Amino acid sequence: MNTNKLKLSIAHLYPKHLNLYGDRGNVITLVKRCEWRGISVEFDEINIGDEIEGHDLYFIGGGQDKQQEDVAQELYSHKDELIAQRDDGAVFLGICGGYQLFGHYYQPHDKDRLQGISLMDAYTVAGDKRFIGNVTVKTNFLTPNTLVGFENHSGLTYLGEGVEALGVVSVGNGNNGKDGFEGARFKNVFGTYLHGSLLPKNPYFADYLISLALEKRYGEKINLEPLDDTFEQEAHKSVVGKAY
Ligand code: GLN
Repeated sequence: MNTNKLKLSIAHLYPKHLNLYGDRGNVITLVKRCEWRGISVEFDEINIGDEIEGHDLYFIGGGQDKQQEDVAQELYSHKDELIAQRDDGAVFLGICGGYQLFGHYYQPHDKDRLQGISLMDAYTVAGDKRFIGNVTVKTNFLTPNTLVGFENHSGLTYLGEGVEALGVVSVGNGNNGKDGFEGARFKNVFGTYLHGSLLPKNPYFADYLISLALEKRYGEKINLEPLDDTFEQEAHKSVVGKAY
């Protein structure tokens, strides 16, 4: 199917609160990689007090504990509709603090537990040290198979049965610095600690997410025309295997 005239609806959840290290760059990448292929994007920024209508793809960025506290209750009020969207095949990408709220809860240091929306069977507890630095992850579902980014979190995330990790950490700490895994996937819900922002340096992951969202909307696999990713691949290679 020719991607000209196709449509995709993308929602950016709580950008005024959760946009650490320019995580907004992920949304810009998704929108541009659609538009460069003639796919028109209906784009909505959802902030506190806004309704959340149905979308093909939802993005939520990271933030410090305070910003997570500001958002958690509001996000939780949309839990049922977002679980229904998940079960309808919608794609979600959550980065760090946003990822943590995709699970059942995030327990910060010496503060009340933040309820998550249970899009995936996972939970997070604040650890004693902060993981900061570059991360390289080896995946089993992307080509090339590496994902690169930057982590800065004290939260330790543990995955339940049936939740796959995005991949195995080859540089950095990932979910908890113990089990060797980074990120998570359940159905079309993806979470990761990789800031950077992530997608400009990992364009094939962006295209993977776009393909899933198009398949959800049109009910069939749609091949995406390759783009000239020379700069993106250079940016990717400049980080692979580097710790700091
Ligand atoms: N506040 C959370 C933590 O420290 C998430 C941080 C982030 O989004 N970078 O683990």
